[in-house]
Amino acid sequence: MTPPKSIVTRFAPSPTGYLHLGHAYAALFATRAAGPEGKFLLRIEDIDSARARPEFEAAIFKDLAWLGLQWEQPVRRQSDHFGDYLVALEKLQVRGLIYPCFCTRKEIRAEIEKSGHAPHNTPGGPEGPLYPGTCRYLDEGERQKRMDEGRAFALRLDALAASQQAHDNIAGPLTWTDGDKGEVTADPGLLGDVVLGRKETTASYHLSVVVDDHIQGVNLVTRGEDLLPSTHVHRLLQALLGYPAPAYHHHRLITNEDGVRLAKRDESLNIRTLRDAGKTPAEVRDMTGIEEAISG
Ligand code: GLU
Repeated sequence: MTPPKSIVTRFAPSPTGYLHLGHAYAALFATRAAGPEGKFLLRIEDIDSARARPEFEAAIFKDLAWLGLQWEQPVRRQSDHFGDYLVALEKLQVRGLIYPCFCTRKEIRAEIEKSGHAPHNTPGGPEGPLYPGTCRYLDEGERQKRMDEGRAFALRLDALAASQQAHDNIAGPLTWTDGDKGEVTADPGLLGDVVLGRKETTASYHLSVVVDDHIQGVNLVTRGEDLLPSTHVHRLLQALLGYPAPAYHHHRLITNEDGVRLAKRDESLNIRTLRDAGKTPAEVRDMTGIEEAISG
């Protein structure tokens, strides 16, 4: 009999602001999901170098330790691993699944309008209108010319071609197992031709998360339900890169008293603000409602 696999979970904040009660909930959820026998990892998602700041990273360690969390060492910091993302990007590139996109946001909006839809109500993905595919079929000569001119570009996934290749690689539909939902069938085209890299930054969120979770052996990804649409794309990337699928558990988001999801700018519910106001770690853990959530 094979012994049950020990659970590996992670909390993966971006150091672009101070942690709030929603982050505390997510971190506690991940560590509880790992259980006493499992491993709980902390990952610093700092690929957005324009927004990531060392003081926010330091505050993440301080706030989580104050809350009573313990995590495995070493902590993976994404900006130290651009080489890993490049390897994955090249794997996709040789299979013809990536193309350079030179469109600015303004051009994308104009293109969507031209096609007869207002950008705000274009039928599209759950996160807004999908990229209309303008650069998907540029010929090689034109691509090279634009690159030689030094134009900025993003590297996008050709979602349709990618879905077909994944389909050829895998028998049956692409699925994952999700906490309370059970088996979910992925819709790999849900977010369209997502950005996987940029001229100036090797990796986007989608690519780096998939690569990191695989390299770190994460076998249970717990995260907020706002990231559910991304999981459809992540399953596709895992299939293309030959990674086994982790299990997922998308949890609820903490909201403020108006029922609005917490944002980094809502300072009153930052962990450091609560600490400075005299709350104890146990009181802040209580405020997240994590115990009720776990016990059902
Ligand atoms: N870094 C992401 C965030 O701060 C979370 C990544 C994930 O859980 O996949 O929202």
